Amino acid sequence: MQEKTLLMIPGPIELDPGVLRAMSLPTLSHVSPEFAQIFGEVLENVRRVFLSESGQPFVLAGSGTLAMDMAAVNFVERGDKALVVNTGYFGDRMAEILQRYGAEVTQVRAELGQIPPLEEVERLLSSDSYKLLAVTHVDTSTGLACDVKGLAELAARYGALSVVDGVCATAGQEMRQEEWGVDISYTASQKAISTPPGLALLVASQKAMEILAERKSLIAGYYTDLNKWLPIMQIYEERRPAYFATPPVNLIYGLRESLRQMLAEGMDACFRRHRIIGEAFQASMRAMGLKMVPHRADDMASTMTAIYYPEHIGASLLGKVKANGVVLAGGLHPAIADRYFRVGHMGPVGPGEILTTIAAIEKGLVSSGYKLEAGLGLAVAQRRLLEL
Ligand SMILES: *Cc1c(COP(=O)(O)O)cnc(C)c1O
Repeated sequence: MQEKTLLMIPGPIELDPGVLRAMSLPTLSHVSPEFAQIFGEVLENVRRVFLSESGQPFVLAGSGTLAMDMAAVNFVERGDKALVVNTGYFGDRMAEILQRYGAEVTQVRAELGQIPPLEEVERLLSSDSYKLLAVTHVDTSTGLACDVKGLAELAARYGALSVVDGVCATAGQEMRQEEWGVDISYTASQKAISTPPGLALLVASQKAMEILAERKSLIAGYYTDLNKWLPIMQIYEERRPAYFATPPVNLIYGLRESLRQMLAEGMDACFRRHRIIGEAFQASMRAMGLKMVPHRADDMASTMTAIYYPEHIGASLLGKVKANGVVLAGGLHPAIADRYFRVGHMGPVGPGEILTTIAAIEKGLVSSGYKLEAGLGLAVAQRRLLEL
């Protein structure tokens, strides 16, 4: 394995060495008092990173899709109506999962590269009785970032639970769960949470927990049943061990370290850093004449960017960029998969990583025959990065 490539995809991401070191400590018994201390701290800090002091955190072995599954299986019952604000691949996936558990799903979409307007969502919410409104904060297939604050307000106004897929957003893109009234939000460890893949994190508001308690039908999942996990999470948070299914002990060590690092930076500073890095990167791509999947700069995510290949240059660009030391991701949205690429810029990224990435893309473009003023993208990005 080449040790010096830079992993700039939308998860898994380049990690802080301290997180990896923490994971290499001896595996404790999951029911030891020492591990209960560690897991208890993690749960407390998950609330802080999600900015939801009164929310109920859940941390389980699994990926982001498990978190989606948990949100759906616990909060819809057969025949419930769910509205999905669809901005790409993960909106499609959420609709499919909700349908699997018996929800009647309506989807609101816009043209590829655009976000459905709030007015359209409100028109639908006011025309029927929806149990739940699901939105992908940052859809990793399009790089679009939704107005979660506005959507959560609408959901509350029309009595629907707001469910936010923050898998490519949480801890990078600004999200204030409690202040914005988001009921359920979730992410996975390998995205902006900055830990290796393997953990699903979900925080449910007290209102969501009440709705769960009032549920009539049995939850169709066993491992995903939040009623099984609730006492476990509560007991661990009191620094006592409990058992339902074995937690991935060493990943929890890694998560403890990454949460500590984020909170030491402060969530406001962390959101601001992501925003400046995202805007600097997007400005540099624009300066180099590249077109991004989102039509409007205001709709672009802080955590990742989706960019069309220039004409006559296709996926071979990624191999050239990799030869320059930076790993990028190909397309994911089925309608345009071979026409664009994706760059992740979340987690412990700073000017060094983003400038290296821009330089590697510039060089890759030049060696593909693209006409470009050398250093232009770097200069444009650097101007913005000086604000950090
Ligand atoms: C990555 C991602 C997922 C799925 O997460 P996995 O860990 O791959 O299961 C879901 N939603 C969004 C927005 C994502 O970026």
